[in-house]
Parts: sequence; structure tokens; C-alpha cells
Amino acid sequence: MNAPMTRRNRAADTPAVFDHPEFAGHEQVVQGHDAATGLKTIIAVHDTRLGPALGGCRMWSYASSGEALTDALRLSRGMTYKNALAGLDLGGGKSVIIADPRSEKTPELLRAFGRQVERLSGTYLTAEDVGISADDMEIVATETAHVRGTRATGLGDPSPYTALGIFVGIKAALRHRFGSDDLSGRTVCVQGLGHVGYSVAELLHEAGARLIVADIHAPSTERAVKAFGATAVSADAAHAQRADVFAPCALGAVLNDRSIAELGAHIVAGAANNQLAEPRHGEALRDRDVLYAPDYAINAGGAISIALARPGGDDKAVRDKVLQIAQTLTHIFQRADTLGLSTQTVADQIAEERLAGA
Ligand code: NAD
Repeated sequence: MNAPMTRRNRAADTPAVFDHPEFAGHEQVVQGHDAATGLKTIIAVHDTRLGPALGGCRMWSYASSGEALTDALRLSRGMTYKNALAGLDLGGGKSVIIADPRSEKTPELLRAFGRQVERLSGTYLTAEDVGISADDMEIVATETAHVRGTRATGLGDPSPYTALGIFVGIKAALRHRFGSDDLSGRTVCVQGLGHVGYSVAELLHEAGARLIVADIHAPSTERAVKAFGATAVSADAAHAQRADVFAPCALGAVLNDRSIAELGAHIVAGAANNQLAEPRHGEALRDRDVLYAPDYAINAGGAISIALARPGGDDKAVRDKVLQIAQTLTHIFQRADTLGLSTQTVADQIAEERLAGA
């Protein structure tokens, strides 16, 4: 008696796609199921005006299909903006698989996902994301050609390209704020020393910057202290360090009411996705005279490498495009100054203009 009630209530609580708060004119939202493997996937194609919708596949043990739908709708829209702003001829999409990547991932399930992608005939191009490795994507690619970032089509780990974009983005921000992008004598606080953060720290060190580093994983900070002469601080104090640049390279929502009030840097420029806890925090940074490099503008290097990588591994086209992140950011900073708007608002405007002109 109780169980059906619960199911009904939950269904009533989960808005259908068109009434969903994260629905933003998505072109296509597909739910895929495979009884033999237990696959449950949602593929969201947000916008294909610029080209096929590229965006990774995330495997996560979502508490409900409603939570998975929220993620798919939100992330796919984010990919539209990221790809548009990066100047790629690609739209935005994202897929989620409702499963625990540690206990429920099987080759059969990944192949079933590949068949779902294949059914969309190239409208959606998939790639790796949280919970899905490069090896997993090789398995998906046995069922569909619509995969990017595999060994056949890619350059491997996108993180070094993301790091390169962050590095040139930090320099662009320094140039805009201080009139010089010389890093010698500048202090940068890097929060999170994972795949991207450590490479960013390395590039900054080579360019002569002083480093402050923080990570919840002590061996990572010890490594940076040893290799770069960095000063280690606790993870929750990173944002408050007196520095020229704060580079969040760990978590999202790191820029919130509390952290913005305590910020010790003039510039925020880092790799983490969704750094603003809420859109209004873009304005809050401007009010505090902090120059913010919008996350999806500065961290597009990995997406660029996945989008443009071609068999053979020549990365010149990728590197050239990643280096353009500096120009994109400079344009955003200048226009934000002229219009008196937050850099986040201006980034969104530029992406929307490119989409409207497509
Ligand atoms: P990663 O998992 O390799 O590294 C994350 C690091 O952050 C780890 O060392 C972890 O210990 C540390 N960390 C976690 N919580 C922390 C905290 N509270 N304070 C300090 N450190 C903490 O991830 P990554 O691939 O380096 O990505 C970093 C961020 O950049 C993520 O937000 C990711 O979504 C974003 N990003 C990554 C890429 C890419 O190419 N890898 C591209 C675009 C955006």
C-alpha cells in the first residue's frame, strides 16, 4: 500500500522536462533504458545551432531520476555556452548514466550506452566526464562513432590543455588589472593540486611566480612545496590568502557570500567548474573590485582539445585555439569595464550573440 504511494508522490514532485526549472529551451532530451544491462541514461541536447552537441557523459549514483535530469539539463546548457565562447563549431549537450561508477559499471552497460548515443545519429557527441574514464570511452566507441577524446580521435588527457588555458588566462587577467603579465614577483594561490591545478602551479613556477598552495590531500601540497618552493596553507583558508591571483582548481561554488567577503586576491582565475555559488556572486566580485575570469571561458582548454583533436596527435591546432582563451578573456574584461557589467554577464552575452548569429 505504502510503496506505490511513495512512487506516485515522488513522480508528482519531479517536474516533467518542459516545467523543469533547469529547462532552457533544450532541443531534445532522451531517456534511454536497457533491460539487459540495467542502463538508465538521460541524454540532453541543449543547442545545435553551431554544430553537433558535444559534452561528456557523467556516471553518478543519483538519488533519483529527477536529480539526474536536473544535472543533464544544467550541464548541457553549460556546454552550449562553453563551446560557443571558445569559438568551436559545436553545440552543447551532456549525458548522465544513473549508476555507481565503482560498483555498477560494466562493459555491457557502457556498450548499451554507446548504442543509445548511436541512435541520435551524431546530434550528440559524447566524451568522458566524472565517473567515466578514457578506457570506458573506448568501450562506448565500439558501438558508436559519435565519441570524442578516444585514442583514435584524441590527444589523451585534456588536463594539460586546460592548465595551459588557465595559465594564459591568468596572464591576460594580470595584464588587464596591472598593465603587465610578467609573473615574476607575482603571488598566486592555487587551491587544488590535481590534474589541472598541479600543472598550472608548474607553469606559474616556471614563469617566476611565488606560489601558495592548498589541497585536502597532504601529499599533493608536500609535492608542490618541494618542487616549487610553494607555501602550503589549509584548504579552507586558500581564498583568504593575500595574493595577486586566487586560482580555484578544486571545487565548485567556491565563490559565495562568505568567501567573497574574505577574498585576499585582486583576481580570481582558475579551473574549477561553476565557481559562483549563485549568479549574483559575479556582481558581488565586481562590487569588491575583484577581476573574475569566468570559469567556462578560462577552463575551456580541455573541451577544445577533445573537440579538435585528430588522429595522429598533432596538437598545433589545439594549442593555437587554447592560446586564444587569453584574447577572449581580454575582450570580456574590456567590455565589462565599458558596460559596467560583471564579467560573468558579459561572457554569457558574447556566447549568446554567437549563438544568435549562427
Ligand atoms: P582532480 O580530481 O584531478 O583534482 C582536484 C584536486 O582538488 C585534488 O587534488 C583534490 O584533493 C583537491 N581538492 C578537493 N577538495 C578540495 C578542497 N576543499 N580544497 C582544496 N583542494 C581540494 O580534478 P582536475 O581534473 O584537476 O579538475 C579540477 C577542477 O577543474 C574541477 O572542478 C574540474 O571540474 C575542473 N575542470 C577540469 C578540466 C580538466 O581538463 N581536467 C577541465 C575543465 C574544468
